Amino acid sequence: MNPTSAPSQTFADLGLAPELLRSLADEGYASPTPIQAAAIPQVLAGRDLFGCAQTGTGKTAAFALPLIQRLRADARKPGPRRCRTLVLAPTRELAAQIYESFVAYGRHAQLTAAVIYGGVGQHRQAKAMLPGVDVLVATPGRLLDLINQRLVDIRSVEYLVLDEADRMLDMGFIHDMRRIVAMLPEQRQTLFFSATLPTAVRELADTMLRDPLEVKTTPRSTPAETVEQSVYFVPKREKKPLLIRLLQEEATGRVIVFARTKHGADKLQRDLTKAGITTAAIHGNKSQSQRERALAAFKSTQPPVLIATDIAARGIDVDEVAHVINYELPHEPETYVHRIGRTGRAGQTGAAVSFCDHDEQPRLVAIERLLRRPIPARNDRSAAPEPAAADSPGTSRHRRRPARAGSSAHAGNRARRSSGAAGKRPRRSPPATPADRVAGGSRAAPPAIPPAAANSGRSRRHRRAL
Ligand code: AMP
Repeated sequence: MNPTSAPSQTFADLGLAPELLRSLADEGYASPTPIQAAAIPQVLAGRDLFGCAQTGTGKTAAFALPLIQRLRADARKPGPRRCRTLVLAPTRELAAQIYESFVAYGRHAQLTAAVIYGGVGQHRQAKAMLPGVDVLVATPGRLLDLINQRLVDIRSVEYLVLDEADRMLDMGFIHDMRRIVAMLPEQRQTLFFSATLPTAVRELADTMLRDPLEVKTTPRSTPAETVEQSVYFVPKREKKPLLIRLLQEEATGRVIVFARTKHGADKLQRDLTKAGITTAAIHGNKSQSQRERALAAFKSTQPPVLIATDIAARGIDVDEVAHVINYELPHEPETYVHRIGRTGRAGQTGAAVSFCDHDEQPRLVAIERLLRRPIPARNDRSAAPEPAAADSPGTSRHRRRPARAGSSAHAGNRARRSSGAAGKRPRRSPPATPADRVAGGSRAAPPAIPPAAANSGRSRRHRRAL
């Protein structure tokens, strides 16, 4: 069961319509999370909401489900280029996720939805808005662009959602947000979410909400507290042997390996299979039944290594994931936090190991900035593994070999699958300091990005995104 769920209630108890219950069954949600249990009946009743909740608490469904139901209850058509619900989110990644959630939850409710964000051409977004939609999810900058070009009209919005308001303020969107809100009808229902509650957020909420229900979720411990994170600076060509070595010698239990693309995930699966490692893969090109089979195997007591892309991994709700391996670093730093949040759940500890090649260094800098701390570097990628116990000659022969990553794959995988000596974690080199890392990583990667360059890389990306 989901550790944050409220077991005594069902979604039907909250007053949700049958078509939504069907979607929830499709999603495999058994019971509402606390924020869903608290928010859904009140939002259904038309009340404003002030939610202090982080990602991972189920807050998207907490606002999306009752809004879909309210839209259906009064199924009027939006005018051309108009939307009935406007959801504002700080990043394109979050906007895309929220959009996907609306599509998934609204699939039996004839919901129409669109998403707009910067960094891509605007043509398709404007076209999607032509007939008008029930739900528009948008980042503020691109939304204002399209409004100014009269391609989007928000003057008849009935429901407004502000997600991650604290991040929108951090990212300097306060003026954009105020301009957008000033265009909306006064008469509307507003749902406001923020992970933290600085004064500026409180003040903003006060100007937008009327007698809101306040819901506060117990903050989940941040991944930084429960997940042991580390990074290898490794050239691209050495990633595969390093991965194989880790899977053989260290990463036991449930392991998810993240690849950035479907093609990359497929290639990795072929390579690991060749190395004798049992794998399953989930990504956008897999059918629903293939994904379900992969997940069922992953939840079993003999889990294969799961290779996943980010979008496909969103539905993975499995506790006791021992290791997350980032074979490639994601473009968006938030995705990193999402990925490593798959492990270290329910108060358990987990490990997240990332591979960073030369080209990925700016992404690492952005991730560390978001985490507000450096990720310790590991430099044991070619160190000999700990010798095995003297009474297991076969294993010992394998493990004493100088650690040429990728060697003896079949034997290693067998060892990995048994719960013997190979299942133990070898001792790690002490985490490198940032200075060590630059020096130690210089063979694999050039010196770390100077802060100024990193800054501009990140802000450029954000400008593009918005
Ligand atoms: P969110 O906090 O909205 O980002 O949701 C985090 C994750 O929890 C998403 O992957 C959702 O699909 C999943 N989720 C949301 N509600 C539930 C639920 N009631 N039961 C199981 N998983 C859920």
